[in-house]
Amino acid sequence: MTTTPDISSGIPAAVSDVRGLFDSGATRPLAGRVARLKALRAMLTENQADWESALWADLHKSAGEAQLTEIGVVLAEIGHTLRHLRRWARPRRGPVPAVLWPARARLVPEPLGVVLVIAPWNYPVQLLLNPLVGVLAAGNTAVLKPSELAPATSALIARLVPRYFPDGAVRAVEGGVPETTELLAQRFDHIVFTGGGPVGRIVMRAAAEHLTPVTLELGGKSPVWFDDDARLHQAARRLAWAKFTNAGQTCVAPDYVMTTPDRVPALVAALETAIADLWGADPRAARDYGRIVNDRQFDRLVSLLDGVDVAVGGDHDRTERYLAPTVVTVPAAGGRPAIGPDAAHAVLREEIFGPVLPVVTVESAEQAVEVVNGWDKPLALYVFTSSTRTRRLFEQQTSSGAVVHDAGLIHVAATGLPFGGVGASGMGAYHGAHSWRTFSHLKPVLHKPLAPDTLRLAQPPFTERRLRF
Ligand code: NAD
Repeated sequence: MTTTPDISSGIPAAVSDVRGLFDSGATRPLAGRVARLKALRAMLTENQADWESALWADLHKSAGEAQLTEIGVVLAEIGHTLRHLRRWARPRRGPVPAVLWPARARLVPEPLGVVLVIAPWNYPVQLLLNPLVGVLAAGNTAVLKPSELAPATSALIARLVPRYFPDGAVRAVEGGVPETTELLAQRFDHIVFTGGGPVGRIVMRAAAEHLTPVTLELGGKSPVWFDDDARLHQAARRLAWAKFTNAGQTCVAPDYVMTTPDRVPALVAALETAIADLWGADPRAARDYGRIVNDRQFDRLVSLLDGVDVAVGGDHDRTERYLAPTVVTVPAAGGRPAIGPDAAHAVLREEIFGPVLPVVTVESAEQAVEVVNGWDKPLALYVFTSSTRTRRLFEQQTSSGAVVHDAGLIHVAATGLPFGGVGASGMGAYHGAHSWRTFSHLKPVLHKPLAPDTLRLAQPPFTERRLRF
């Protein structure tokens, strides 16, 4: 059983089965963990065409983009984990202070138990299965909740999971709010949630009932600073790629660009050229340009164009939920940057999560730093400059989940680096060794031999002389 016909009995029973398997100890041996990671790899590689057609159906994601941003990312994570798992899983020596000598300490990693993974629709494969790699590597069992807003991918996961995990170490529960609410009423040992801040709060509240730790991968407005006049076209191409991949529906997509007023015309022209290079004169006809996930998101994004100056793109078609790669320009108002948590226009205030890129003017990099620090800490911050001083300025005077210089998005593919937010953009991190650490408990095991019995010194009666160290 993968889908749950009856929420109130089916979901508790599914979670209880997964817990039963964990409690049996079957998922602890290292050989089994390796086998499950290989099963996950086979689930991806043996059904390539099915994954590609599901992602095309849900998001008009081309095969190339599906490989690059979804399947390939998970395969890389599996490969990296298989290469390092034995070392990560080895107990390591722990330090013992001299007052406790003679004694020996080890740090023994152990799995947490049953982990719930709740995923969004925008990278419905990667954001569900990438956390699963670490969950399985650490010896846990898992319940997966794919997004109901990517229904073809969700159905495929529900169909394949029982085939590749016949022992039930991984279960998929499909559904939307009612199913997720019922899932969250169950006890888990860790929850990984990827999605928006409002639902993140719901998840954390539900987790608190069971004192379940959470990893929250949230979103927000990821800023860009751009002053690279010398390498304008190359930098603009990277910026356009990072922004308009998956039609801008990427948690770490550049949300807005800050630059000085004198640079705006050249930057807008360079972005226009880059968009045409990447997706042709008519991106609607491009195989590699995505669509908006549903009508609600489409209407929200199109409404963001009301009352702003569209410099590039802007054309749209609701019948196929197409919105062109769009650049809008936003001059400073009254000497102050127009962007911020109190901005009048939603495009300057809310996470855009679509193919609309505001180019906002500020007086200087220092003023851009003030803008970044004026509201929630973003998930990513991108700096396109040839000045080392400017790079350091952003690194040292702002806080964000990550900083990338001269590129966007690519840190997601850096398996060895922790991926996660800070403040409102999330808590906790995963990927590679950080995933394994997140889903393990590092248990100190201390052995103090009975002889020689030095502990007597710490036991009463405490005479004056013994208390004088
Ligand atoms: P969402 O928060 O609406 O939904 C995410 C998941 O939560 C889905 O599986 C959904 O079924 C479930 N859910 C929705 N409403 C719920 C409720 N009331 N109770 C319980 N569960 C509920 O997010 P989304 O629209 O799917 O994705 C967009 C958001 O996700 C953006 O804010 C984006 O920045 C963020 N995001 C973050 C990352 C990251 O890695 N940090 C990656 C992708 C997306």
